[in-house]
Parts: sequence; C-alpha cells; structure tokens
Amino acid sequence: MTSRREFLKRTVASGIAAATLPPVAGAAQAAGINGIAQTVLGPLDASKLGFTLPHEHIADGPYFHLPKWPKAWGGRAEFTAMAVEKLKLVRAAGVSTIVDLTTYDVGRDIRFLEEVSRKSGLNMIACTGQRFFPPNFPDVSMPSREIAGLTEFFIKEIEQGIDGTGIKAGVIKIGIVAQNVTALEEIGLRAAARASKATGVPIRTHTDAAHRAGERHAVILEDEGMNPSRVSFDHSDGSGDMDYFLGLVKRGYSLGMDHVHRGLSPDSRPSFERRAECIKLLVDAGFAGKLFLSQDSEFGGSLLPEEQKEWRDKIDPPEGMLFSTAKLIPYLKRIGVSDRDMHTVTVENPRTFFSLSPKGR
Ligand SMILES: [Zn+2]
Repeated sequence: MTSRREFLKRTVASGIAAATLPPVAGAAQAAGINGIAQTVLGPLDASKLGFTLPHEHIADGPYFHLPKWPKAWGGRAEFTAMAVEKLKLVRAAGVSTIVDLTTYDVGRDIRFLEEVSRKSGLNMIACTGQRFFPPNFPDVSMPSREIAGLTEFFIKEIEQGIDGTGIKAGVIKIGIVAQNVTALEEIGLRAAARASKATGVPIRTHTDAAHRAGERHAVILEDEGMNPSRVSFDHSDGSGDMDYFLGLVKRGYSLGMDHVHRGLSPDSRPSFERRAECIKLLVDAGFAGKLFLSQDSEFGGSLLPEEQKEWRDKIDPPEGMLFSTAKLIPYLKRIGVSDRDMHTVTVENPRTFFSLSPKGR
C-alpha cells in the first residue's frame, strides 16, 4: 500500500511535470482551450490550477453557519480565520484549486470566498447558475420564467462580476433535482448552454444519476448546440451502471464522481466499492479523460461542533475535503488505477475543463 506521504510526494512531483507536458491532444482540441481559468482572484494560467477538486461548497459558510454560533466564533473575523486554518490543511494535502459550486440561491458570499482563497493559498473558482427552481423553492429562486433573463444574469456574473464586485464566475452550475427535468429547470439548462457558448465557461449539473437523468440533460443541451466536452454531469457515481456511464462519455460528456463517500454508509447503493470499481472500469475503457473526483462537501458544516451538525453536514465524509486525497485515491490505486491516470483525472482534466474556450463554441 502506498503511504500518504509517498502519494503526496508523487502528486506534487507529477503536478510539476504536468506543467511542461503538452495538453492532452483530443480533449484540448475539442474544448479549443486557450489555457486561462477565471478564479476569484482573477485570470490564471490553467496549468497552475494543479490538483483540483471540481465540486465543493465553501461560499455558503457565513450564510448558514455563522448565525448559529456568532459569539462562540467571535463573529465573522474568527469564523473566517477558522475556515482559513482548515483550508490550509487541504492545501498541505496537495490540493491546489477548489471549485465552489454554490450559486446565489444557496447563500453564496463571494467576498468570503475571495478572502479565504487569498489567505489559504488555494485557488478558487466561483460559479454562476441556479440550484433551486420555482415552484418548488419560490423563496430562494429568482422567479424568471424566461431563458433570456437567466442567460443575461449568468453572463453578467461571468463577464462583469458577482453581487456588484468584480469577482467573475468561472463555471456555470445548474441543479436538476430529480429524474425528470421540470419546465423551469429546462429554462435554466438552456440559459446555461447559451451563457456558456457566449462566454466560454463550462457547465456542471447536479444530476440524479440513479435515474439516468444525464441522458435527459444531454438532449436539451444538444438541442442548444452545446459542445459535450464543456459539460460535466456531477454526482454521477450515484448510478453504478456502466451502460449509462459509457453512453455519456462516448458522446463526449464528463462525469463528476463526487459522492463516492456516500457509498460507505451501510444502506447506501451503490456501495463505496462499486462506485470505485466503476471509476476503475471507465479508466480501463480509456475514459480517464472524462472523469472528475471531488466530495461535494458543505465546508461550513465541517466547522460546526458535532452535536450541532444537521443532515447535510452529516452526510459529508468525516475527512471533509481531504476524503479524495486521504481515502479515495489511495483506494483507487490499490485496485489498480495508475498514477498516470490519476494525474489525468485530478490535474489534466480540470486544467482543460476550466480553461475558457473561445466564445460561440
Ligand atoms: Zn454540490
């Protein structure tokens, strides 16, 4: 078994090597990349993204958690300091970039994200998009019923900035809750495709993979002329069905495997082992270039005392954002995934995916 220290040494070493390697020809050409990612601290040469967690939640920390313990945490300054200390541990474990998929309707605090990025040394990419759609969530969602209105909002957050700041989104997140896409979710998905094509930033969706929902999203995205190589269907490991996975990756879509830890709870299906096995099978089938690893953790919840944690905080892995580096990747290596393929998944794919593509592609 590879020790964590050895693993980290190799990850760092291969990260340095990656900077001098030519980009993966097929994927890079498909995306038409020019190698610049949009982070909360400004444009960044995408080869500097390094090891990237592409689906996490940090920006909602102050909104959800600070009001619960304002005195104990000494207010915002102490809360931020605590968050930075924890994020430095993630940085020390070899993670270099975190993509925050917290949209405005989930309490995104963009200044918090900027501050913790600056102080922790982690690159962070913020998102635009929408997680909840009316009529199910009328209190938090923008009640736009028109594609044009949402498209304009997404483009504004990508090209001008978020909430009156100059901090620009570098990815679009769309939450499709269940098996079938509702009429308003479809509007959101179409707006995402149009904003992506207009700006060059990619799309990630919340996907009900257990019911093959990615296939439904693909129909709508393709109707909008969306390039599949600019789309990742996240939470895909909830499927466990290789037929579903292979159908999507062969069409050019990426799969976010970011709920693998949920398979560790005894009654969860697919199991942790099956989710990991599917990653290995996809790598063996030649699709390492279409996979992402993350853990969709709700970071603010990890700062709460144990007895204060709510359901969302409790389904996150106890390792938090260290789950991939501490548990999942060592496990994948034990079942035979090579260092080279792991590097493709964790470093090269994010570099290509989060690079802005030429507009209109
Ligand atoms: Zn998420």
